[in-house]
Amino acid sequence: MSQPQTHAFQTEVTQLLRLMIHSLYSNPEVFLRELISNASDACDKLRFEALADDGLYENDKDLRVRVSFDAEQKTVTIDDNGIGMNHEEVVEHIGTIAHSGTKAFLEQLEAGKTHDLQQIGQFGVGFYSAFIVADHVELTTRRAGVGAEHGVRWTSDGEGEYTIETVDKPERGTRIVLPLRADPCATTSRSSPTISDCAR
Ligand code: ADP
Repeated sequence: MSQPQTHAFQTEVTQLLRLMIHSLYSNPEVFLRELISNASDACDKLRFEALADDGLYENDKDLRVRVSFDAEQKTVTIDDNGIGMNHEEVVEHIGTIAHSGTKAFLEQLEAGKTHDLQQIGQFGVGFYSAFIVADHVELTTRRAGVGAEHGVRWTSDGEGEYTIETVDKPERGTRIVLPLRADPCATTSRSSPTISDCAR
C-alpha cells in the first residue's frame, strides 16, 4: 500500500474528458462496448503471453469478463482476469500521456465532424468513454504473474488530474468501477459539441 500520488493529465486529455463529462451525447452506452472490448483484449493478451510463460495463468485458465450493476450504489463494474497492468503501464496507457488519437478525436468533435461517440474506439481513446456516464472513475489492476501487493489503483474525476497508488489485489486483471451520474441517459442529441459547451 502507498500514499496516493496526484498527477496532471496532458492538456488534450483534460479537454477530451471535459467534453465527455459536460457535453450531451446521444449514445452514452458506447462506454460499455469500449470497456468490454478492452477487457476482452486483455484476456487475449494474457492468452498470448502465456504461450511463453504458463505461470501467468496463476492456476486459473478460465478467462472471463464480468459486468455487474449494483442498484443500491448505482455503480457499474467491469471486471476481467486478463493480463492487467503494472504501475508504468497504467501511467502510460491510462494516465498522463495523450495518445496520438486524443488530439485527432478532439478535433473531430470540435469541428462537428463526429456527431456521436460511436467512433471513439477507432481513435485509441475508448477508455475515456467511461467519463460519459461517470464523474468519477476507479480502475484497480494487477499484472498477471506478480504478487498481490503489486496492485495499482488509478482514480480520476476527469478534472485535469488523476491519483495513483499501490494496493493489494489478489486477483490478476483489471476492475473498473463507475458510479453512474444521476441520469446519464437523459441526454439529447447535440450535433456539434464544442469546448465552450463544457464550460461549467
Ligand atoms: P485502445 O484500447 O484503442 O488502445 P483505450 O483508451 O481503450 O485505447 O485503452 C488504452 C490502453 O489501456 C489499451 O491499449 C491497454 O493497453 C490499456 N487497457 C485498457 N483497459 C485495459 C484492461 N481492462 N486491461 C489491461 N489493459 C487495459
